[in-house]
Amino acid sequence: MENWLISEDRFIPEHLRKNETLFTTGNGYLCTRGTFEEGYPAEQAVTLIHGVFDDAPIVSTELANTPNWIDLRVYAGSELLRLDRAAINDYGRQLDLHDGMLRRSFTWAPAAGGSLRLAFERFASLADEHILGVRLSVESIDYAGPLEFRAGLPGYIDNDGLLHWEWQAQGSADSGASLCLKTRHSATVLCEAFHLTVTGGQAVMQHWDTRWSPEVVARLEIEPNQRVTVDKLAIVYTSRDTPEPAAEARRALQAARAAGFDRLAEANRAAWANDWQSVNVTIEGDDSSDLAVRYGLFQLLAVAPRNDQRVSIPAKALSGYGYRGHVFWDTEIFMLPFFTYTRPDIARNLLMYRYYTLAGARRKAAGQGREGACFAWESAASGDEMTPRWVTGPDGELVRIWCGDIELHISADVAYAIYQFWRVTGDDDFLRDYGAEILLDTARYWGSRAEWRPGPGRYEINDVIGPDENHDHINNNAYTNNMAVWNLRTALEVLTWLRAHAPHQARELEQNLDLSAERLAHWQDVITRMKTGYNPDTHLFEQFDGFFQLREVDLPALEPRSQSVQSLLGITGAQQVQVIKQPDVLMLLNLLPDAANPQALPANWDYYTPRTDLTHGSSLGPAVQAILAARLGKIDQAYRHFHLAAQTDLQDARKNLEYGLHPATQGGLWQAVVFGFAGLSLAGGQPTVSPRLPPGWSRLKFTIRYHGQPYEFDLSPPPVQQPALPIRGAIFDLDGVLTDTSEMHYRAWKQLADEENMPFDRQDNEALRGVSRRESLLRLLKGKTYSEDQLQALMERKNRYYQELIEALSPQDLLPGVREFLQDLRRAGVRIAVGSSSKNSRGVIERLAIGSLLDEIADGASVEQAKPAPDLFLFAARQLGVSPQHCVVFEDAQAGVEAGLSAQMWVVGIGPRQRVGAAHQIFSGLNQIRWEDLLAQLRTQLTKPTGEPDQATHPQERR
Ligand code: BGC
Repeated sequence: MENWLISEDRFIPEHLRKNETLFTTGNGYLCTRGTFEEGYPAEQAVTLIHGVFDDAPIVSTELANTPNWIDLRVYAGSELLRLDRAAINDYGRQLDLHDGMLRRSFTWAPAAGGSLRLAFERFASLADEHILGVRLSVESIDYAGPLEFRAGLPGYIDNDGLLHWEWQAQGSADSGASLCLKTRHSATVLCEAFHLTVTGGQAVMQHWDTRWSPEVVARLEIEPNQRVTVDKLAIVYTSRDTPEPAAEARRALQAARAAGFDRLAEANRAAWANDWQSVNVTIEGDDSSDLAVRYGLFQLLAVAPRNDQRVSIPAKALSGYGYRGHVFWDTEIFMLPFFTYTRPDIARNLLMYRYYTLAGARRKAAGQGREGACFAWESAASGDEMTPRWVTGPDGELVRIWCGDIELHISADVAYAIYQFWRVTGDDDFLRDYGAEILLDTARYWGSRAEWRPGPGRYEINDVIGPDENHDHINNNAYTNNMAVWNLRTALEVLTWLRAHAPHQARELEQNLDLSAERLAHWQDVITRMKTGYNPDTHLFEQFDGFFQLREVDLPALEPRSQSVQSLLGITGAQQVQVIKQPDVLMLLNLLPDAANPQALPANWDYYTPRTDLTHGSSLGPAVQAILAARLGKIDQAYRHFHLAAQTDLQDARKNLEYGLHPATQGGLWQAVVFGFAGLSLAGGQPTVSPRLPPGWSRLKFTIRYHGQPYEFDLSPPPVQQPALPIRGAIFDLDGVLTDTSEMHYRAWKQLADEENMPFDRQDNEALRGVSRRESLLRLLKGKTYSEDQLQALMERKNRYYQELIEALSPQDLLPGVREFLQDLRRAGVRIAVGSSSKNSRGVIERLAIGSLLDEIADGASVEQAKPAPDLFLFAARQLGVSPQHCVVFEDAQAGVEAGLSAQMWVVGIGPRQRVGAAHQIFSGLNQIRWEDLLAQLRTQLTKPTGEPDQATHPQERR
């Protein structure tokens, strides 16, 4: 169940914006950020509706923010509920991925006295995309007095300060209200209506028909143990959906009221259940990956248009203002494969968007003096180029963005997605009526864009940007040139198919697109004589002319860094070095594995991987690397890249989640699982898999559709070999071994000590390593006597400071080599536990995202006697089901080493000899250890009475 929930158990104001993005919900028509019904200062309350664009300075056009339909404020007496001011307890919020229901509950103690339990839920219905619902249940624990609910449609809304709407009409009647607005430039009319129902109390209802913001207000008295429920049902229509949005909204509201919240919520649940049936992916043995993939699929489903072929999925979905709702190659290359293989109906809608924007693509080509269709790098309603030409740089300077002028590969990317869709679905009608025209007209563009160079006797495509945007105005980008050739070749293939299967359409297209024999011969010539950048001796593609001559940069030497190489070196500096923003040649080999000799993939992998800014460049990179590493059989590396991609949204790994989700990465994760780890291929004309599952994955299940038929895959790894040495369990201390929280402990103790006027420095802190909280405090107090209550209060205070500090922990705080070492153990079949005195272990483990690599957690709450008593490790061994003699402990503290030894376990010390010298083996960190080597080293310490290692006695038994 947990792997279907995204939860937070504490409200942290500093995480407000990014969690608004994380808790975004939607239904393929609109998405709403995870803001609060009652509002919060500095929130970004945003609901974006597909296709509702309006003109905007600099960015040309953007999706206009729409009225905050979730608006529902609560007053106890005259006190307005505000999370930033009120006394709030037992807070929790969950997004249920089963049905997109967002729930939040907490206890509120109004200043007037008493307390109330509040529970909100809301959904945007997948069953009927115009229906939205909020429910608030208030239960009085011991509050007696007036309650007031104010629900509205605040229409005076902006996009980061820009107003897109003009007022049209509003009204209120019968516990409901409505509002119609119109965008200032695109003249899209939006009509929303809602109705408020209060049950469980005698509410007096009022309408406040304030211009721009009609409200319904309900007042009642509540007593202890009474429970009141407020349902707000809302309807949204625009003039994009119907010529009469106001009438349609009124009609739909009547029907929704008749059904009621419960039945509408049930219909929503059933619609989601139906969707999940065809798309769910299950990964057993690695919960965090399982959840990350499912969350990504949830968000892709939540934004995927079901009933609209004139919109597509923007680069930040509908979850924030990032990229202003514009559509990039992200959709066709990263997201579309998921839809093509699981929901071809949705994939078809997304491709139809490109068909309906062909006119814009033709205008763009004509604007360059070329023929055919050149798709916009950033596309919106019309298909015309929307990439801003200038943006403000980090120091306020103006930066020219060239992508809209010369990042041309998007046209071949769209063509590629169309052809893949046809191959996978067998949807001949689509190819005949729509797809072929796109393939042929993009080919026309490439035919006119390729330049003949008489000197070398070849065609070139010059002055472009490839997928790697660190380098612009480059010549002969291998990705662009080879994809253009692919586009031309495929267009000829499709034309032949069309002539055979739909001669009428073939003739029409030949005429409309002027597909003369000369033109087709020219295409053939370009295909044969295009510069590819491939060197058959080295098997390397040169990313563009002169790339190999650029200066090399040692990327690891730039670590630790929190910025991209382009930010560090500046735009001009980054142009001059061999560091790329994302896979470019490797992207080509990902899409066209047969573009060159089979040796090209390993050669280019080795060359380009260390030159790619995978951690701080584009978030699109890691998933592609994961697919290719898996194809190369480098499963550990594949998993590492996959894991990096998986952290993008759930861990905000790029520190830009507040601006919106990363749907391309979400689609990339699905591809890494299905094409990478499962090795799905259509090479033999049928879907087949060649699984290469990461360590720890005990099962991978997914479903695809091929030519209308479902194919279910249920994959497991081959059985694991047991280790020869009798070590079957590994127990890790947490602080100092898996992560380093000693600095946070120091800062928490230091704050307490300063507040209490007690001397405390780093050296004092060193002596507290591995020591329990109580013992640490006693040492800090240096013999001063305190009552038990005072001790408790001090410990709680320190713990609170510490907990605030560890909130900031993330998987990046794992010490070097930890994940790899744990995976090494997993592969060897060793059971793994954490044995830490810290009572916060579980929270830390969750933030480090290593839960799936652990079998058991023994923490400060598991036993009474702290280290150096052996109890905690003995407890962990029992949990693992392994006898102490067959366990090894990894410890960085003297007390922990002692505890391991007195538990009769093997002990590996991590840290300096003066601290952990009593251990059997000593290392400076887990990155220094390989499991096989460690076993060999421990083996040298065994006495072998029978000469058989398996019969060995433990060194402790010798002492
Ligand atoms: C990437 C592009 C991508 C765009 C939108 C850029 O940073 O380099 O490949 O299309 O973001 O996600």
